[in-house]
Amino acid sequence: MNMNEQRQIDGWFGEFGGRYVPETLVAALDQLADAWAEARSDPDFERGFRDLLRHYVGRATPLTYAPRLTEHAGGASIWLKREDLAHTGAHKINNTIGQALLTRRMGKQRVIAETGAGQHGVATATACARFGLDCEVYMGAEDVRRQSLNVFRMKLLGAKVNVVEDGSRTLKDATNAAMRDWMESVDHTHYIIGSVVGPHPFPSLVRSFQSVIGRETREQCMEVLGRLPDRIVACVGGGSNAAGIFTEFIDDPEVALVGIEAGGRGESSGDHASTLVHGEPGVLHGSRSIVLQDHDGQTADVHSCSAGLDYPGVGPEHAHWHTSGRVEYRGVSDERAIEAFCLLSELEGCIPALETAHAIAGAVDDAATMDPDQHLVINLSGRGDKDAEEARRLLGDLD
Ligand SMILES: *Cc1c(COP(=O)(O)O)cnc(C)c1O
Repeated sequence: MNMNEQRQIDGWFGEFGGRYVPETLVAALDQLADAWAEARSDPDFERGFRDLLRHYVGRATPLTYAPRLTEHAGGASIWLKREDLAHTGAHKINNTIGQALLTRRMGKQRVIAETGAGQHGVATATACARFGLDCEVYMGAEDVRRQSLNVFRMKLLGAKVNVVEDGSRTLKDATNAAMRDWMESVDHTHYIIGSVVGPHPFPSLVRSFQSVIGRETREQCMEVLGRLPDRIVACVGGGSNAAGIFTEFIDDPEVALVGIEAGGRGESSGDHASTLVHGEPGVLHGSRSIVLQDHDGQTADVHSCSAGLDYPGVGPEHAHWHTSGRVEYRGVSDERAIEAFCLLSELEGCIPALETAHAIAGAVDDAATMDPDQHLVINLSGRGDKDAEEARRLLGDLD
């Protein structure tokens, strides 16, 4: 058994993880953990999942050399792992397809999900359409207003969107509402969590479905470079795209791993979403991790220009990698992310998601300090078509 497998079994990553849930959910989490353990030892499940990744999601996604960004940074060669080319335009589909397969395996017909900007909602609705599952997505009223096109997409895909009017009416409140639904519907409903967060087994389950990113990257680097990359940079919201690419390299100390969080508009509480940079240990949404909170343990408000990074928590495994020092985490501000959004568009012809743009800014800083014979991989977690409207609002019409 390797270290990854051990980590998946007990649900703890050092002092982080676990299950902080009402008793009514424990049986469902056990059922999910058992179904997943069974599925993993069933070659048919693995074959079915890989087949869908290939023929439905469009994997493997390419590893693309970025010559002009490399020249701009003036150091290491920069490569892009193209999750923007996966079906629905981001990495999230890897997880929702995997969990939809598990839903069927558990004999459940109804799926619920939470969504912030709507990306996970769309990816969940897509997987449910493909498998004929009933789908309801919880979304805060504020996000519904900001992301009305994604609400329409989910409806087109056959999902019902439940508007949440509680609290700040954003992702955190949508997650609470989805948890409440699950407590009452757990015998016939599966909750597809969208990142490496939540109670065990979700963090390891989601990471496992996303680890295809890292496996492909490793193979592609061996094929093209004949060796492993020197550094990998990914953005971190809940942490699923980062965990998906990092996990395959975690036992290779020669590969530096860097997670970039949302630095927002400043360092004060409420102005950013840099959970690992500024947070403290605490419990949020069913697991112990590092959380942005006030002195009473109340979850802090967060801000980021990118809705997918705008979350006051982070996956427990990232909290562990942070504490152990295996992964370096830094923040990148809204302003620099928007600059990087333009930079990749102009230099490489790829319009990145605003989330991803944070990783690009961080990677350019790092590449500049590296040697020309070194190689840096950016996980290009998603495409930016969804953000074009918001970018236009921030940048004006560019003429
Ligand atoms: C949702 C999203 C993220 C943030 O989520 P993680 O779980 O941290 O990966 C990053 N990039 C894109 C394109 C997203 O849609």
